[in-house]
Amino acid sequence: MPKVVLGRPLSKVVIIGLGLIGSSFARGLKKWGLCEEIVGCARSSSTLEKGLDLGVIDTAEKDLSLAVQGADLVFLSMPIGATEKILSTIAPYLGENTIVTDAGSVKGCVVEAAKRVFGEVPENFIPGHPIAGSEKSGVDAGTSGLFLHHKVILTPVSGHSPEAALTVTALWEAMGANVILMDPGTHDKILAATSHLPHLLAYSLVDTMAKDDESLDIFRYAAGGFRDFTRIAASDPTMWHDIFLANRAATLEALDEFTEDLALLRKAVDTGNSQDMLGVFTRAQAAREHFSTILSQRAYLEKMSESMNEKQIEFILQPGSKVSGKLRVTGDKSISHRSIILGSIAEGETDIEGFLEGEDALATLQAFRDLGVVIEGPHQGRVKVYGVGLHGLKAPPGDLYLGNSGTSMRLLAGLLAAQDFSVTLTGDKSLTKRPMGRVATPLRLMGAQIDTGQDGSPPLAIKGNPSLSGIEYPMPMASAQVKSCLLLAGLYADSTTVIEPAPTRDHTERMLRGFGVSVDQRGDTVTLQGGQTLKACSIDIPADISSAAFFIVAGTIAKDSEILLEHVGVNPTRTGVIDILRLMGANISLLNERQVGGEPVADLLVKSADLKGIDIPEALVPLAIDEFPVIFVAAACAQGPTCLRGAEELRVKESDRIQVMADGLVSLGVDAQATPDGILINGKGDGQANVFTEGTVESHGDHRIAMSFSVASLRSSGEIRVLNCANVATSFPSFVSEAQKVGIQIIAKDVQ
Ligand code: NAP
Repeated sequence: MPKVVLGRPLSKVVIIGLGLIGSSFARGLKKWGLCEEIVGCARSSSTLEKGLDLGVIDTAEKDLSLAVQGADLVFLSMPIGATEKILSTIAPYLGENTIVTDAGSVKGCVVEAAKRVFGEVPENFIPGHPIAGSEKSGVDAGTSGLFLHHKVILTPVSGHSPEAALTVTALWEAMGANVILMDPGTHDKILAATSHLPHLLAYSLVDTMAKDDESLDIFRYAAGGFRDFTRIAASDPTMWHDIFLANRAATLEALDEFTEDLALLRKAVDTGNSQDMLGVFTRAQAAREHFSTILSQRAYLEKMSESMNEKQIEFILQPGSKVSGKLRVTGDKSISHRSIILGSIAEGETDIEGFLEGEDALATLQAFRDLGVVIEGPHQGRVKVYGVGLHGLKAPPGDLYLGNSGTSMRLLAGLLAAQDFSVTLTGDKSLTKRPMGRVATPLRLMGAQIDTGQDGSPPLAIKGNPSLSGIEYPMPMASAQVKSCLLLAGLYADSTTVIEPAPTRDHTERMLRGFGVSVDQRGDTVTLQGGQTLKACSIDIPADISSAAFFIVAGTIAKDSEILLEHVGVNPTRTGVIDILRLMGANISLLNERQVGGEPVADLLVKSADLKGIDIPEALVPLAIDEFPVIFVAAACAQGPTCLRGAEELRVKESDRIQVMADGLVSLGVDAQATPDGILINGKGDGQANVFTEGTVESHGDHRIAMSFSVASLRSSGEIRVLNCANVATSFPSFVSEAQKVGIQIIAKDVQ
């Protein structure tokens, strides 16, 4: 018995055109048991005989009028040029409930053909197009899995029967395809660019080369590129002749656009204009990577943490003893963002090393490509930005999509408010909920025109205003992003002053100075005069002290250990972790201190030390806010109590870090109590090797908690398992391998 498709089993399906697509459809129907009888129709008897021999069809019928009588569904899979003639032939014999659908690669012409034959498109006619296939043709070429995980576009027109559309959808889905609906015009425009133009170019290229005197040599020595690019020129000529005629207007439009761009590229090659050439190649390479993501059926710029979360990673740690060696941990995220932004509006070429290839910084990089900046890389942390100067950014082709990156959106809002074009900034679902009023409000005071969503949320529609006026702005909240946004807008105004209610990170000010811009800092007040030119420079992005902190504590608590952490950013707004650990007795030396792009950097030499518990000075709390989880691990290894107060903010980080750390410490045998604004830890550091017992700790998906308990294994008596560690990949993708390198006995296990 055939499967029931939407309430009724299909007894008879007629397939007209038994080539690659028609025979694959027939094979799919058979494999999934979707109908009782398949009747095949083709021009030649040999095709029909082969169809019968291969068991693809049950009955062969050359006479279409006979074939379609009593059919539940007719599937047209011959070249589209034959559609009108075939519809006219079968029209008088179709039953009232017979559904007609097709596979034609152009949809507007099929709909028009149906109108001409029937007067109007019949309600049971559901045009379709499977986005699957190959350059092969004929009844032998088909496979039952051709449509598996491929898209099928259906283009039903108004007045169609919903039941017919659902039946066709159900059939495709039963064969593993994903059905999407579209209007015929949109379908034809999209396919002109993505399928029809590439086929036209492939045919033309091979023909041009074949006419060449040296053609034999060309083909004999053809490299992979030629073969890859021209594979589709082996497709069936009649089918493609029909397609180009049927989709003439949309194909010509795509061809004209391409011809124009090709002429520009030709000129760039002719004149040796490297910047224009690299612009095209780097943009294309980045776009191709996005397309690959889409083609492999992953969401556009899918959030790594989400996909990693699905993976359910656990860290399994054996007790360790000693750590040693040297490490350069991943680059600082805040500085990575700013290196792209300032490099883009500088004069000249900025070379960046140590760029953090995380999603957020990559969103900023892509945004500047869209704004017309040529950016090479990243390749293993190296990026080259061809600056366009303060006034060289260009309107992007569409909205700027910034993924999950709040930093990108807030900083770009300031810069783009001052351009002579309009732009809309969008992001993923979670970014869309983040408050942007805090930047929109002061920017409006400078004369910016910004529309936000409800309650000041994204998208931000920015109408550029090249004549912003400077303001003096006392920030209502201590926010480095708001300050940076206003300073970037201030580059285009007369004089801009920002007053901080409490110290915030000053990476933007420092990097502006590194690019030759004078920024005046007096106490809590930062002032910038607009109109200054940024001069390109080289930036070796410091390693992130927040990532280095795990290894600083590892080197401190492990016995007989010494570890060198290279090129760590030691910006005074970030070094609270060093100050606190030193107060506890840690042995941390700053070697080779230097300035890189305005940022202080040093190599940190960390040696084992016996720690003592302390009352952590509240003034240091904001300077070490991200590093407390690992400081708590150090405190457990110290002699006597350590007390933290004034850190309520820790309760609203990626997890309630106070409670989660207290729970984890207790489950590993440490005396720890959470307090409303901090924690009290009674350190066990009585010279014993083992401070922590074996046990299992829940990280609640908080990357810093997961890495902190990994470090605890250096002083544990047995195996520690840390659950829910997938998010580590977002901030510190190489954590596990770096930890293994210095001697932490860690393995990451996918437990799904
Ligand atoms: P194909 O392998 O060349 O097969 C075409 C079939 O149609 C053959 O069986 C042929 O019969 C039959 N045929 C040709 N003219 C006919 C006519 N006037 N009346 C009855 N039958 C006729 O073609 P295909 O690749 O399967 O493509 C079929 C349709 O699918 C086309 O409309 C195409 O646009 C669309 N499509 C193709 C692809 C792809 O990648 N190939 C992808 C998506 C959609 P004989 O064997 O007797 O010559």
